[in-house]
This record gives sequence, structure tokens and C-alpha cells, in this order.
Amino acid sequence: MIEQQIKDTLEELKSQGAEYADIRFHALDMNERIHIRDGLMKNYKMESKSGYGVRVLCDGAWGFFSSEDIKLLKATAKVALDKARSASLFIQEKVSLSPKKAFKDTYSSNIGTDPFNVNLEEKIELLRKINANLTHASFDFVGAGASFSKRNVLFFDTEGSEIEKNILEVDPSFYAYAKDSDGLNQSRSYIMYQNSLKDSTVGYENLLDEKQFLGHPERIKEELISVLEAPIQKEEVCSLIPMPEMMALQTHETIGHALELDRILGYELSYAGGSHVDLDHFNTLEFGSKKLNARASGVTPNSPGTEGYDDDGVKGIDVQMIESGILRNAITSRQMIIEANNKAGKEIFTESGGACRAQSYNCLPIERMNNINIDPGSDGTLQEIIAKTENGLMVETPRSWSIGSNRENFHFACEIGWKIKDGKVDSVVRNPTYKGDSLNFWHSLDMVGDKSTWQLQQVYNCGKGQPNQIMHLAHGIPACRFDQVTVGNK
Ligand SMILES: [Zn+2]
Repeated sequence: MIEQQIKDTLEELKSQGAEYADIRFHALDMNERIHIRDGLMKNYKMESKSGYGVRVLCDGAWGFFSSEDIKLLKATAKVALDKARSASLFIQEKVSLSPKKAFKDTYSSNIGTDPFNVNLEEKIELLRKINANLTHASFDFVGAGASFSKRNVLFFDTEGSEIEKNILEVDPSFYAYAKDSDGLNQSRSYIMYQNSLKDSTVGYENLLDEKQFLGHPERIKEELISVLEAPIQKEEVCSLIPMPEMMALQTHETIGHALELDRILGYELSYAGGSHVDLDHFNTLEFGSKKLNARASGVTPNSPGTEGYDDDGVKGIDVQMIESGILRNAITSRQMIIEANNKAGKEIFTESGGACRAQSYNCLPIERMNNINIDPGSDGTLQEIIAKTENGLMVETPRSWSIGSNRENFHFACEIGWKIKDGKVDSVVRNPTYKGDSLNFWHSLDMVGDKSTWQLQQVYNCGKGQPNQIMHLAHGIPACRFDQVTVGNK
């Protein structure tokens, strides 16, 4: 019945002059957050909402309006249409959308044990157990948290799309804080990665998996103990091996955000910054070494970046953005590829990459990362890469990050570092940092690990847009080694 109401409303919008319209209805949108610190409940939130957004293109301009009351659907659609008409008086360039294939389809996450069906006591008990395993007499505090989200979304548009999505996401993590021998704060933390094998699942079972999550608190505790007394990493130039959480940040900040097409066209300048990439860089710019192959994938299994279809109704595809170091493509939507091609005076982008995403029903979709992945290479396992490293630094987990406003350079601090000497992990160092120019850094990529090193790191805190939208995504990344990197502190 709701489906018919939505279809009737879209027909009405068309008859009133809309060039295009879509309606995203979140029939179910549940979020649960549990945070236990030092064994006690620090925060608990359970939210369940329902609502819809109507997006209308009329006279070359967008109008958008949303509501929680489905009885107001027609009135909400009318407001969206009126907003588009008003906006059309002020736009400099008319919006048009690239063609797409319309689908009637249902997409579902590969759902295992639904965390919303697990007793709250059981979930709290698990996080308490992690707290207990992390606790040490010399630590200031420890904590563990988990976020679960589940949504059922209908997407219908005036081009014939009728898409239903059932999405489940699980995001657990934990941390420990302590003072080091200089009295300064140190931390070690861990975020669960997702298993991207096609026959694996997303669910509460991920939290119970030793490899993905439950087997790590003891290691993290030991690592923090070792950091507290470790020598500070002095400034030097050496090989750098960023471990998965660090490699995900590197990919996120200097490939992902740099290659969002709206940012390349100047749309995010006032808030999140621009990009050093220009339209004339596509198919010419050497973004990195020949070992670098990067993708914007909408099909990586079990990722919060994979939703079957984006919020333009474009089916998820795998887009190679960097091929053997050469820049080929970007993170794109239907609107931006037309605008970019018009601005460039040639066809750079042939189809939308399916990366137009909104945080929820009450937000307008914009270009967002889905899965920004780096292909595995042919340089063997992590152990083989370490064995071939004479003088290096291995680093893990972001501690702080600062990035140039055009993503042209960066400076990252990490929670822990390990010196590598003559092919062996030698000792732990404190306050490891590294910095570089984005392009020079990716050009220094000299070893890329094989499939066994590839891991899907989840990201649940990517912010972009005005008003700000927080997006969920992931980075599939192999073990990588970079040559001649400036690390450490003066
Ligand atoms: Zn981000």
C-alpha cells in the first residue's frame, strides 16, 4: 500500500512538471549504541525511527523535503517541488542527470545473527569481559563499545526504479589509556574489521570471532604496556609499513576524499576542502607508483559501503580509479559526471560510479566513498615484506591526523610503532608520526602484499557536507611498504 502511495506521488510530481523525482522511505531505521568504560555503563542509546525524503528535479534545480509522517507524503512532495521551482530562479547551471538503468530489485546484507535479537545483557556482558581483559594496574581507564544499525529502505523514482534494501551493520571497538614515562597520555585501541569473503556474514557473530574482534584485547593491552616505556621515535627517513587501520586512514584521506568529483569541481571548499586533482588530470596524472591500483567499489561483500544501489538508484559497480599509478576515474554521481564532462568539454566519465549516498532519509545524497580499496599485489605476505626491509618503521592506529585542505599533503600520528632492522621487527617506539606530499608518497609505494594481507577496515565516522552527514564505508587494503618516508619527531 505504501508502495502504491509512493508511485502515485511520483506520477503526480511528473504531471506537475518534475523532470525527475525519487522517494526514499526508511520503513525501519534502528540504531543501538552501547559503551562500557571500566566495567560500568558509560552510555546507552536505542533509537528507532521511520521517515522519507522526496527529491525533485524541476526547471534544472533540486528541491528536497522530508517527513516522518507518511500521511503527509503528497504535501511533502509538493514542498520539494516548490523548493526546486524557487531554486531554479537562482542557479547558474541547470542540473541534468546521466542515464541509468532502472531496476526492480531487493538487496540484502548477508545477515547472520541479528544483534537486535541478542539480549542486551549478553551484549553488555561481552563488552564487560573485554574491559576486564584490557584492564591493567598502570592504565587510567579502558572501554569497549558497539554500534548496531539495521534499516529497511524503499527507493522509487520516476524512471521506474523500485528498489528495496535490507542493511545490517555492526561496529564494535575498544580502547585503553595510560600515562607514559613522561606523564603524557598514550592509548591503544582496536576497531573490528569485516570479513569480505562472499560466504561470510554480517552479524553479532563477528563480535565473537577471535580473528575479527574477540582475540585482540590481550594483545592491545600488552602493546600499550610496551609503548609506555618505549623510546620516542626520532626524525629519520626510512621505509614505512602502515598496518591496516593506518593504511585505511591513508587511503581514506589522500585517495578517497581527494577523488570525490564534487570536491574536484569545487563544491566542498567552504567546509571539507577541495582537491589537488583537476579535470585535465584524468588519464594523464601519475597519482602513484606502478604498484598502485585503487578502486571505488559498490560491490565489496559485507561492507557498510555496499548497499546494492546508491541513493540515485544506480546499481553498485566496481570502478577502477587508479590503474598502475595512472588516474582514471573518481567517486561519482549521475549529476556530477554530466557537469564535469561539460566543464571539461569532453567525455571523461561515461557512467555514474554509483557513489551518491545520503546519511538518512532526511539528507540530500552527495558523492560519498563506498569502498575505496587498493588491489593486492605480488610482494608476498607481511612477513616477507618485513624480511626485505633493511631500515623501517611499522605503524598502527591513527592518533591524530592533519591534512592539507586540497589533500595535497598530510601529517599523521600513530598509537604505536615498531622499528624494523635488517628484516626483523626490532623494538617498539613511542609517538611515531609520519608525513608527506600525497603524490610523492603514493609514488614511493614500492611493495604491495598479496591477497593474504588484504583486509576490509570499516569506517563509521566519515563527515562531509553542509549540513554535515556522517557516512559508513570501508577500505579494503593490502600490506604496503613505502620507501624514503620522513618519520618521527625532531
Ligand atoms: Zn572522511
